[in-house]
Amino acid sequence: MGRLSQLRDDLKNKKIRLTEVYDDLIVKIKTRNPQVNAYLEVFEEEMRARTKILETEASEAAPLAGLPIGIKDMISMKNHVVSASSKILEGYRAPRSATVTEKLKKAGAIFTGRLNCDEFAMGSSNENTSFGAVKNPVDLARTAGGSSGGSAAAVAAELCVGSLGTDTGGSIRLPAAFCGIVGMKPTYGRVSRSGVIAFASSLDQVGPFADDALDCAEILQVIAGRDARDSTTMPVPVENYVAAAKNGSLKGLKIGLPKEYFISEGVSPEIVKQTQAAIEVFKKEGATIKEVSIPHTEYGIAVYYLVATAEAASNLSRYDGIRYGKRAKDFASMKDLIIKTRSEGFGAEVKRRIMLGTFSLSSGYYDAYYSKAQYVRSKIQNEFLNALKEVDVLFAPVTTSTAFKIGEKVNDPLAMYLSDIFTVSINLAGVPAIAFPIGHDSKGLPIGGQFIGGPFQEAKLLAATAGFEKAHPITKAKLACQ
Ligand code: GLN
Repeated sequence: MGRLSQLRDDLKNKKIRLTEVYDDLIVKIKTRNPQVNAYLEVFEEEMRARTKILETEASEAAPLAGLPIGIKDMISMKNHVVSASSKILEGYRAPRSATVTEKLKKAGAIFTGRLNCDEFAMGSSNENTSFGAVKNPVDLARTAGGSSGGSAAAVAAELCVGSLGTDTGGSIRLPAAFCGIVGMKPTYGRVSRSGVIAFASSLDQVGPFADDALDCAEILQVIAGRDARDSTTMPVPVENYVAAAKNGSLKGLKIGLPKEYFISEGVSPEIVKQTQAAIEVFKKEGATIKEVSIPHTEYGIAVYYLVATAEAASNLSRYDGIRYGKRAKDFASMKDLIIKTRSEGFGAEVKRRIMLGTFSLSSGYYDAYYSKAQYVRSKIQNEFLNALKEVDVLFAPVTTSTAFKIGEKVNDPLAMYLSDIFTVSINLAGVPAIAFPIGHDSKGLPIGGQFIGGPFQEAKLLAATAGFEKAHPITKAKLACQ
């Protein structure tokens, strides 16, 4: 059982008192967080205040009553700092809560703090942050993955029972795989982004991290649904994710293997081996396997980095030193103010993307790059939708390697971009996917696999993952943080 469900049961059965839970948790955060750097801010006072209120109130009916949940520093919590791990938002406090945090709070969750991430969620290793890289709790010399590295590391290091991240091109699934936990990117339009800092608006999606499929389902159940404040959310009924995860099974499931995802070139042999082993488990549990094809997969990275940078360049134009956060000192004119603020406030990767995006949107280049990327994007989307007509879900690896060393790829942006090869196309297609542990490499580092589903088929993904967890429990990797 995941720690979220376990804690809820223990609280319900009065096996443990809420104030004790938080006393212990705060001590753990104080000893482990300096080692992993997952939290940028810990809401110690707020946690204590809310436990007192919840202990006296009869709020046990609320689905997440008293449960400690961490929030990525891209998601607003009223009156709290939200910085996208960037200096440009220095001093900025959210005037209101994001719909997702409002919903979690209503469901009884207690926010533990604000979690480190790559600046504006741009990165795959959580090294592009103004506040120091997040360390992988399993091996502190390695990255936790990005961009939601803090969200994954906090769950893996047991510094909360669940967390929220955002996934624009893999930022939930990649760190979940590197840290050995479960992370889900819902369908585009399933979860509201109102109050979430925008990176690439046609791709961004909020989703949960937790120990297992059921715990993820508990969080998704609360945050999913149409929101009048985000017109991209769809009025599709929210299924019973919790029931789906509880009754999870692989029996009779048709699983498609996109052949372009089962390559050996550039992929660690241990990942190839573990994905094959997972497929054997699926078969043993009564699933049928079918090879399918997503022929335009090889263009995924190019298309993603055109679309995402174009949208980022446009979204980030609002950080001008006038409306939000940081304002440069000693400026001679308005233009000078904007230039100085942006030069001082943004980190190198964000600047690189703003330049790339501005270039591909500029007159004379728009058709050659942006329009063409959109054209190929629709092909990729159709290929996913067609493949998913033949099968219930697709299965694929999440990453090409296990967690790499901190510093290993920072000076090679292309190598970093290539680590997203198995995740970005899914965002381009807008379909949901869930990353879950399937094994370890010879160093004991976690390896993840992902199920990918048709639009709004989160329940199916959760059920399949829970089925795998039951059939083939993966022992949690030993933590390096004490
Ligand atoms: N690694 C990808 C990027 O750098 C994805 C990031 C994300 O999903 N936010 O853009």
